[in-house]
Amino acid sequence: VASPKRTILLVEDEESITAPLSEALSREGFEPVIAGTAAEALELAAARSPDLVLLDLGLPDGDGMDVLRRLRRITTTPVLVLTARDAERDVVRGLRLGADDYLVKPVRLRELLARVEAVVRRTRAAEGTDATAVQIEDLRVDLAARRATVADREITLTAKEFDILAALARRPGAAVSRQQLLDEVWGDAYFAVSRSLDVHLTSLRQKLGRPGLLATIRGFGYRLGR
Ligand code: CA
Repeated sequence: VASPKRTILLVEDEESITAPLSEALSREGFEPVIAGTAAEALELAAARSPDLVLLDLGLPDGDGMDVLRRLRRITTTPVLVLTARDAERDVVRGLRLGADDYLVKPVRLRELLARVEAVVRRTRAAEGTDATAVQIEDLRVDLAARRATVADREITLTAKEFDILAALARRPGAAVSRQQLLDEVWGDAYFAVSRSLDVHLTSLRQKLGRPGLLATIRGFGYRLGR
């Protein structure tokens, strides 16, 4: 039985890049879907549930970083960022926002295909029956439905509490820096809200009712799961 074709969402506005890329991806057995704008990217990501997103940062209607941030709120789909040379800051920021890897343009086809294969292999090995839900002990976080349950009992979270929980749940057992949380949940406005993160975290911990599940790593950040 042939495995279903993996869909790759290619977010890029330059046809000189999308044409050869989608051709190469098709040749390798993937199903490429092209989005030329940020709006289209979010629409197609929701409609097609791609297995991987290739994301250019320079889009005609907005910043690829915004697309990345918004994608990360709804899905754990791996994202490979395509960036211009010498844009190291973008790369760091992209990785902080939850990109899985990056490639510097001009992209060499063989390198891109190798990275795509590696990411798809990695996620295929890691994925359970539902890649949009995360189970940590008896806590289940459904990222797509924005619901969380503890021991099958639904807990009522505010939008921000859920965003914080989701950002942590996407990296179960891993340390997430305070900076990264602020950046993902509040974006560029984080300078103003640093203290409110503590308030949300305190409330989230109470609601989870599982002491130790959400650990503070002093001087760094937080970790969900042991
Ligand atoms: Ca572009």
